[in-house]
Amino acid sequence: MRTYHHIINGQDVKGSSPHTIAVINPSTGETVGYMSLADQADVNAAVADAKAAFPSWADTPPAARAKILFRWRQLIDDHMDDLAHVISEEHGKSKAEAIGSISRGADVLEFACGIPSALKGEFSANVGRQVDSYSLRQPLGVVGAITPFNFPAMIPLWISSVAIACGNTVVLKPSERNPSAALLLAKLALKAGLPEGVLNVLNGAKEAVNGLLTHPDVKAISFVGQTSTAKYVQQTAIAHGKRVQAFGGAKNHALVMPDADIESTVDAILGAAYGSAGERCMAISVVVAVGEQTADLLIAQLSPKIKDLKIGAPTNEGAEMGPLITQDHLAKVKAYIDQGVKEGPTLVVDGRLQKVSSEGYFLSGCLFDKVTSNMSIYQDEIFGPVLCVVRVTSYEEGLTLINKHPYANGVAIFTRDGDSARDFCHRIDVGMVGINVPIPVPVGFHSFGGWKNSIFADHGMHGMEGVRFFTQLKTITSRWSSGSRQGVEFSLPTVE
Ligand code: NAD
Repeated sequence: MRTYHHIINGQDVKGSSPHTIAVINPSTGETVGYMSLADQADVNAAVADAKAAFPSWADTPPAARAKILFRWRQLIDDHMDDLAHVISEEHGKSKAEAIGSISRGADVLEFACGIPSALKGEFSANVGRQVDSYSLRQPLGVVGAITPFNFPAMIPLWISSVAIACGNTVVLKPSERNPSAALLLAKLALKAGLPEGVLNVLNGAKEAVNGLLTHPDVKAISFVGQTSTAKYVQQTAIAHGKRVQAFGGAKNHALVMPDADIESTVDAILGAAYGSAGERCMAISVVVAVGEQTADLLIAQLSPKIKDLKIGAPTNEGAEMGPLITQDHLAKVKAYIDQGVKEGPTLVVDGRLQKVSSEGYFLSGCLFDKVTSNMSIYQDEIFGPVLCVVRVTSYEEGLTLINKHPYANGVAIFTRDGDSARDFCHRIDVGMVGINVPIPVPVGFHSFGGWKNSIFADHGMHGMEGVRFFTQLKTITSRWSSGSRQGVEFSLPTVE
C-alpha cells in the first residue's frame, strides 16, 4: 500500500493535515494507497518555500535554467516505463496511451528548453534623439497549477515546464485521483538539478485549491478541469487579484462531408471517440454527417468496429480501451445513456451489454444515431465512450449547428475538398481545428486553447501564449545623451 505525501522545498513532507483520501486502481476497484489532503497550513508552507526560492531562480540566466530542463527531459525518457506504469495503474490508460501522453507533455518541455530564444524581447534604437526602447519579459513569482485526472503527466508538464522556464516557482496540485505521476516528475526535476522549492507538489482537493486561489503570495493560477470548476477558479482567482487561465470541458464535433474518404474517417473517429475511454478533452463525441448516405455508411462501418473494441485493464496486452476513472463517473455516464434512450435517438451499439470480467469501472463503446441538438447527450460533456451521430442535410446546416454549441475546444472536418476545408477553418467558432485530423492538439511550440465555455483565459497554454501568460512585460526607454543638455520639457515628449 502506497503513502502519498507532498514534495515541498525538495523534501517528502507528510504535511500537518490528518486527512487522507484513497487512491483507487480503476481497473480493479482496489485501493493503491492513501494520499495526504493538504489543508491551509500545508498550502502556506508550500507557498512560503516557493516564494523563498523565487528571487534566486528568477535571477538564474535563462540558458542556465534551460540546461536543467534538458536534463529533466532526458530523465523523463529514462523513466518512461515507470511513469507509464503509475499512470496505467491509477488512471487505467493502456501503456501505449500513457507513453503517448507523457511524450506530448515532454514535447512542451522541449519547447521550454528553448526559453532563451523565447524571452529575447524587442529593441528599437533611436526612438527619439539619443533614446532607445526595449522590452523585457519577467517572471510573475509563485504560480499555482491545478490539474485534472485525465492527463496525470502531460498537463502538469505543460504548465510547470513553461512556468519554470520563464523563471517562476510553482506549487502544483495534481488530481487527487492519480497523484503518482506528478510526484515522480517532481523527483526527476530535482534529480536534474532544479533547485529546491522551484517545483513543489501539494496533494489535496478543494481545500488545497481554495488555499492557492486566495493566498496573497500566489501571483497566477493555471487550471485545467471541468467547466463548472474552471468558472469557479477563474472568478475566485480574479477576486483575489491574480492572473488566471482556466481551461474547461468540451464537446468536440467531427463534420463528415459526403466526399470524405469514409474508411480512413471511420478509423480516425474510432480512435478519437473511444481512445482513453473517451476521457479526453479533445475526444470526438459528436459526428455530424452531411447527407443520409454519409450517415448510413458511417453507422454501418463504425458499429461492428465498436462492438469489437477490446476492453480491459492496461495489464491486459492488447486492450484498446480501459476503465472509467471512478465508480461515480461510471454511474454518471450510464445515467446519460439511460437518459439518451428516453430522449428518442437510436442506440445502435449499447456498451452496457458487454461484460468485462473484472471489478473495475468498465463500459464498452456506445453509439447513438439520429441525435438532435435538444438532447442532453448532445448538449453535455459526458466524458465517456459515448459517440452521437447527428444527421444534417448540408455543410451550412452542420456548420451552424456546431457554431451554436456552447463548448468550443476542438473540431474536425473530414473532406477531400480544399474549398470546404478552407471555408470551415475561417467560419468555425472553435479554438482548435483539424482537417482530416481528428484530435488537433497543437504541438508544444504552438499554443493550446479552445473558445467559449471551454476556456476562461486571455492566453492559451504552452508555445508563445504560455510564455506571455507566465511573464509580465516591462518596457524600458533610455536616454544616453553623451553630456548634451535637453532642457526642461513640460509637454509629453514626442518623436521629432
Ligand atoms: P475537475 O474539475 O473535477 O478537477 C480538476 C482539478 O480541480 C482537480 O485538481 C480537483 O482537485 C480540483 N477541483 C475539483 N472540484 C473542485 C472544486 N469544487 N473546487 C476547487 N477545486 C476543485 O476535473 P477532472 O474531472 O479532474 O477532469 C476532467 C475535466 O477536465 C473534463 O471536463 C475535461 O474536459 C477537462 N479537461 C480540459 C482540458 C482542456 O485543456 N480544456 C484538458 C483536460 C481535461
